[in-house]
Amino acid sequence: MTRPTHTNTFRAVFLGPPGAGKGTQASLVAERDAVLHVSTGDMLRQHVKSGTALGTRARSFMDSGQLVPDDVIIAMVEQRIGTEDADRSWILDGFPRTVPQAEALKRMLDGVSQSLTHVVFFRVPKAELVARLSSRWTCSACGSIWNTKSKPPRHAGQCDDCGGQLRQRDDDRPEAVTRRLEVYAAQTEPLLDYYRRRGRLVDVDAARDPVAVSEELADVLRTEPRADD
Ligand code: AMP
Repeated sequence: MTRPTHTNTFRAVFLGPPGAGKGTQASLVAERDAVLHVSTGDMLRQHVKSGTALGTRARSFMDSGQLVPDDVIIAMVEQRIGTEDADRSWILDGFPRTVPQAEALKRMLDGVSQSLTHVVFFRVPKAELVARLSSRWTCSACGSIWNTKSKPPRHAGQCDDCGGQLRQRDDDRPEAVTRRLEVYAAQTEPLLDYYRRRGRLVDVDAARDPVAVSEELADVLRTEPRADD
């Protein structure tokens, strides 16, 4: 699909359980429309790879499927969506994940007289999530995501985009997957009500194939946001 996703600036949050396809869809929109894609998971993995103090602190939480503490994440996002990006469209993928993070985001945006334009909830049944996560492989060089069931690479273990080696993320191992889904239910699911009460939440059936999801998403992001909060 080549239609632009949007004509106006948007500031969107992609919300949903791990494995719902938020990262894949955010990358598609970002590539097509030169939108800023902020993935807190990718930022943290980059810190871990570079061996920064933040990465060292975050690693044990990530490997065991727990959330990294709010203060660390909030400071990291605050830095990323700073004033130089104020006029750009952006997608937050994987943030906020807790109510305190959502409140911090609201304060950040209030500070520059902005608000979120769209909060998209990626709805996928739990059994489908477990199947997706356990067959997910990530390129160790460029970060592209592959799936041995739904999007297999041409050559097993090798990235089609850059030839890099594919590996399974530590937190895609079965015990970490179970933990991440529990953490999602306990800490992130309450955000659905938080945003629903504010009239912001749009539901997308993300259990369908990625092209169908992408088309619906383009329509959602083209819709003018409501004028309130
Ligand atoms: P993701 O790639 O979004 O699934 O994130 C991978 C891991 O990074 C998560 O399981 C958490 O340990 C950590 N993480 C990413 N985003 C956040 C966030 N907003 N709050 C806390 N931890 C996060």
